[in-house]
Parts: sequence; structure tokens; C-alpha cells
Amino acid sequence: MVWLSDEERFSAIEENLKIIRNDIAESAIKSGRLPEEVALMAVTKTVEPKFINKAIDCGIGLIGENKVQELLLKEPELNLAGCKAHLIGHLQSNKVKKIVGKVDTIQSVDTVDIAKEIGKRSVQQGIITKVLLEVNVGNEDSKFGFSSDELFEKACEIAEIDGITVNGLMCVAPICEKEAEIRAVFSNMRRMFIDIGAKKIDNISMNVLSMGMSGDYESAILEGANLVRIGSAIFGARIYR
Ligand SMILES: *Cc1c(COP(=O)(O)O)cnc(C)c1O
Repeated sequence: MVWLSDEERFSAIEENLKIIRNDIAESAIKSGRLPEEVALMAVTKTVEPKFINKAIDCGIGLIGENKVQELLLKEPELNLAGCKAHLIGHLQSNKVKKIVGKVDTIQSVDTVDIAKEIGKRSVQQGIITKVLLEVNVGNEDSKFGFSSDELFEKACEIAEIDGITVNGLMCVAPICEKEAEIRAVFSNMRRMFIDIGAKKIDNISMNVLSMGMSGDYESAILEGANLVRIGSAIFGARIYR
């Protein structure tokens, strides 16, 4: 582990963002879209507010945190005037009350029960919370999310809940050895995204397809991602304390 000064880390963040934006633009164009059609989220778990604010200064308009507690702790120090925050990590029902109203979107809805709780707390606050449905697209035991088989049925159930609106899908792809494998995973996601969108269910809009992280965002964009969630490629390797 090489220890960098804050100044060195600030310039690394700036450099990394330039490179990533370039890559995103190239992949977007290759997939027949405009660079601005793919949103770049900076994933900020374990990252200190000063570095997050640096990314925001460099034009980041969307951040993602995994934990309610961590987001609430850092929030007062963040320059969020022109930047939205999403929750992207598994949410426990006893934390829902704390996060509703604090984030633009909850990307990690993985059960009907958690969706009901988000709906209930949103209604209490007089707001509608945007949610994405997390898909366990690799059917991995270690991952949260709906299986591909149950996704449509659960989406319809969730769409009935007051206080929330279904705005798209998200996944954390399995580790794949081959490029073709990961492309197939992302392609599968896109197919579900299109299929569900085409059914025109009330309260379901397939606007956001959130997939692709530091190691696989170019493949994800080539297969249709319109929001990529990038942490370590921006901020460097995470240090868990
Ligand atoms: C940590 C995390 C990311 C970003 O991972 P990197 O590999 O650091 O880019 C994206 N999405 C989720 C849900 C995460 O937990």
C-alpha cells in the first residue's frame, strides 16, 4: 500500500475521472448512444467527505452509498447542492425510516417487504420514493436480489405499493473469467429491462438500468447500461477500517 498525500489523491481523482469519462463516452458511442446518455455514479463507501467533494467539484452529479449510517454521517460534510445521492446497498427494514427522504433513489430493493416499508415511510412523509429492483442475475447464494424468474411477478406486486415508483433495475454482476460471459449477463439484464418496460405496467417505468462497476463498466455500457456505479477506479482501492 502506497500512502498518498491529500493533494496527490485529489489529482488522482481528477485524472481517474477524465479517463473513466473517456471510456464511458467511447463505449456509449460503440453502443449507438451519446456519452451523456450514460450516467456516472461515484460510489463513495469508505471514502472521506473531502475526497467525495473533490469528485463533486470535478462534475460528479450522482453518488452512491451502501450503508444508511455511513451516508447520514457524511451527509452534513458533503456539497450536495448539485449532486444526488442513491442508496445502493442492502437495506434492513429498521433503517428504512432513516433513509427515506434523504436519497433520490433506493437502488437496492430486493424484497417485497422492504418495498412495502419504503412505501409506508414515504407515505408518512408525503413523498414518493423512486426505487430500482435489484436482480441477482447470476443466481448467486451470496448476493441479494430477485431471481430472474420471479422478477416480473415481484415487480407487479411492488408497483401496487403506495409511496414508491419503480424506476428501473440494478445488478451486481458475478465475477466472470471471460468477457463473453459477463456480456451475456448484462445482455440478460437488458432483455428483462426491455421486456418489463414493454408491458407498460402502471407505476413501472424502466428508465434506469444500473449495472457496471470499476472492473466491468465498459461491457455493461456495451450491453445497454445507462447508469454505471464506479468506486475504486475513481478513488483508489478501499481501505476498510
Ligand atoms: C462497491 C460497490 C460498487 C463499486 O465497486 P467498484 O468495484 O469499487 O467500482 C458498485 N455497486 C455496488 C452495489 C457496490 O457495493
